[in-house]
Amino acid sequence: MHRGTLVNVIIVGGGIGGFTLALFLHRAGIGCRIYELAPEIRPLGVGINILPHASRELGELGLESALARVSVLTREAVFFNRFGQLIYREALGRYAGYDDPQYSIHRGELQKVLVAAAAERLGADRIFTGWKCVGVDQDASGATAQFQDAATGEALAPQSADIVVACDGLHSVVRKTLHPHEGPPLYSGVNMWRGVSIWPSILSGASMIRAGWLASGKMVIYPIRDNVDGHGNQLINWVAELETPQHTNRDWNRPGDINDFIGAFADWHFDWLDVPAFIREAQTILEFPMVDQDPLPWWSRGRVTLLGDAAHPMYPRGSNGAGQAILDARALADALVAHRDPVDALKAYETKRLPFTAEVVRMNRKNPPDAILREVFERTGDKPFRRIEDVISQEELVALSESYKRVAGFDKQSLQAGASIAPQKL
Ligand SMILES: Cc1cc2nc3c(=O)[nH]c(=O)nc-3n(C[C@H](O)[C@H](O)[C@H](O)COP(=O)(O)OP(=O)(O)OC[C@H]3O[C@@H](n4cnc5c(N)ncnc54)[C@H](O)[C@@H]3O)c2cc1C
Repeated sequence: MHRGTLVNVIIVGGGIGGFTLALFLHRAGIGCRIYELAPEIRPLGVGINILPHASRELGELGLESALARVSVLTREAVFFNRFGQLIYREALGRYAGYDDPQYSIHRGELQKVLVAAAAERLGADRIFTGWKCVGVDQDASGATAQFQDAATGEALAPQSADIVVACDGLHSVVRKTLHPHEGPPLYSGVNMWRGVSIWPSILSGASMIRAGWLASGKMVIYPIRDNVDGHGNQLINWVAELETPQHTNRDWNRPGDINDFIGAFADWHFDWLDVPAFIREAQTILEFPMVDQDPLPWWSRGRVTLLGDAAHPMYPRGSNGAGQAILDARALADALVAHRDPVDALKAYETKRLPFTAEVVRMNRKNPPDAILREVFERTGDKPFRRIEDVISQEELVALSESYKRVAGFDKQSLQAGASIAPQKL
């Protein structure tokens, strides 16, 4: 491996992928500047999971203790039907013998950790907020991003560097520039409502719970912060998912209406949780459609490339959106170190990551981890069971869970072999 000749990278978008890339580039001795649309970086969003393949990368950046302070180290995954009956339980992260933890964390807290590290290591003068990218250009010697003032719409000075990396998320302007004829996002038929409730700990206090099924209503519930009120209560993230033609355009900050979905969960009173009461504790509800886009044929054109959601928007079903952006960032920094020519580096990055992430996009459509719930829903005809063994064997449950881990790159074997950022087909 030799150090590339690059001196400068423009990162468009200061989200999870953009800041992780900045930290990996800094570690590799490559200069960069980050341009973020938002006027200030605010802790937006709700819960996110960082699985061991991605937490290992963040650990390599020296962020483990900062993350552990503001997250919950997830202990187990637990699956129930809509009658509150236990289907399957498995250990997660370090509790499952991985070298690295699984974090359940507020997206805003994750971003704060990344931003603080970037400000300290790169310098706050490398982070520009209120800069809206409106296009990119390139010639043989460099790439240029065009910007407007996000508040006034006034043109700002174009910014040039050796390469431009678009980490500008779901509505990526750069993706649209590179692929102008791509169609609109594809709606899965499932709408989601998300929120956080302050509540006493549920089950182990670090359980990732999935319950029900999309046709009649599914919940995902996991804690993201301990003792938020001095009384030992946790901040607990939840997502209600329901098959419905009703949906709006994807916008992470769109408010939702509890009356649009609470009916599906009205009789979910279990001995381990009163679900309707728990949902009603949330101060704010956000609505988001489960949409994705077909994998692109390519991400890199010359000196411009895509990363994270800009490159591969996927259903937020397997806790992989943030993780795959983090793995992209690591792979891109490695490629820039390994290749003298930046154009070659961007192609090498794409060759490594595009097939892999395309498989995750497809797997999230077909068989995400909650496929376990679908199997039980279908085999029982959505009725309570007497014994789960009569419905599905433990071996089948394990196989369903493991196959997703293999495709997404966080099965133990791949991680031990250091293969989490290379493609694996089933
Ligand atoms: C406000 C917000 C809330 C979110 N909440 C959740 C959540 O609760 N749960 C969850 O699983 N995922 C959430 N996500 C998405 C999640 O962060 C990503 O799926 C994942 O982390 C991949 O990261 P990314 O860097 O590719 O995209 P993002 O983290 O979405 O980052 C993209 C960044 O680019 C910026 N940007 C967009 N357009 C431009 C432009 N033209 N010029 C400059 N900058 C631009 C955005 O403001 C954003 O900061 C949220 C994203 C955002 C932006």
